[in-house]
Amino acid sequence: MKLKILLLVSFALASCKSTSEFTGFSYDPPGGTDTSGREITEQKRRVIGAGSPKVWISNEFEGARAVDFYQIDENTFEVLIAPENYPINNSPWYAFSIWGEQERPITLQIAYKEGRHRYLPKVYRNIDGLSYSHIIQDAEFDSLTGTSIFKIYLETDPQTVSAHFLENIRFSDLEKTLSSLNQPFISLDTVGTTHQNHPILELTVDETSVDGEKGILAIVSRQHPPEVAAYHAYQYFFSTLTSDSQLAREFRSYFIVKAYPMLNPDGVINGHWRHNGAGVDLNRDWINFNQPETQAVRDALLSATSTNDNRVYYAVDFHSTNENIFYPILEEVETFPDNLTQRWFEIIDTSLPDLNFSSEEFDTSSPIAKNWFYRTFGSDAVTFEVYDELPLDEIRNLGVNSANSLMELLLDEWKKANP
Ligand SMILES: [Zn+2]
Repeated sequence: MKLKILLLVSFALASCKSTSEFTGFSYDPPGGTDTSGREITEQKRRVIGAGSPKVWISNEFEGARAVDFYQIDENTFEVLIAPENYPINNSPWYAFSIWGEQERPITLQIAYKEGRHRYLPKVYRNIDGLSYSHIIQDAEFDSLTGTSIFKIYLETDPQTVSAHFLENIRFSDLEKTLSSLNQPFISLDTVGTTHQNHPILELTVDETSVDGEKGILAIVSRQHPPEVAAYHAYQYFFSTLTSDSQLAREFRSYFIVKAYPMLNPDGVINGHWRHNGAGVDLNRDWINFNQPETQAVRDALLSATSTNDNRVYYAVDFHSTNENIFYPILEEVETFPDNLTQRWFEIIDTSLPDLNFSSEEFDTSSPIAKNWFYRTFGSDAVTFEVYDELPLDEIRNLGVNSANSLMELLLDEWKKANP
């Protein structure tokens, strides 16, 4: 009888392509590791008016998210934000524009369906070519309902209110930047297509000039659309690797960089909280590979390493959370290079003490990107988490500093492996 049950269980596991051992991190919702696809609710793109004199909001732009809008009392209005589907991790992205018939101060509430307030509101406006932006540091948080409450001065011209400033984080910004790339050693490829027909973009940096082994540094970013601090860090990191410094030029003579700057364009374009166009958390799909985004990276990197000359040395997967933290692979797990993350962490933590970086090691069982790199190439890899609200100048320091120290570490490793 026992055997029969076991057989049934193993048949079920083999047939439904779900993850058998790992059932999710503590912060994952139930079912978060089922990556076969779940229905999402598209938000209706529209302008919604409320009250008298009238106040309007709009979600008719790339990256917007807001599903409803209503008046609470004379000077108080509420915007309702809902995720693409749920259960979902609490990463409640919002972005909408707001304006009124009459200029006046109002109280704005952001209410979340299936979530609680997380990101400080950012306000941006551009009137007659003059732009103005600020972060609302004193937004109140109602711990009972999860709603945030703050004041804004309503104008007759639209202002954007969003979880992060939208500049340089949209898919269209990336396409614009990439179309003007002019370094001859960087090439741009489309390695796949998302459910909603957007390109999965890959950047290859190849200026190698050595005979024999070439190292590969792989970079994944923006699996989770609202994790914008990490996306900015990725941008500074990548431009440091491709800069004209002596170190970067030497690094590029031994190492190829394969970067996937925005792995979840469907989510970014539609203002998703976390998931792709099929309602799936991509960073839980690196064992079953049910989704086109993860499949594209897997296939591109397997093909890049199909010749013996190319060897993956390291992978960095950029994310954001409520602190600056590294998630390395457990020190006792042997990788090549071994414990590179632990050494890199020490350098970053020592040179940027104000960032209060911490580090928490994990085993390699979960279906996340970092573990796929280890399982497939035996390489070391890290989940690099940047504090959600880290100011841009500190993100720049972090991106530049960490890229420089990683290049030095990797060059040493290459020279040790190729005496
Ligand atoms: Zn993430």
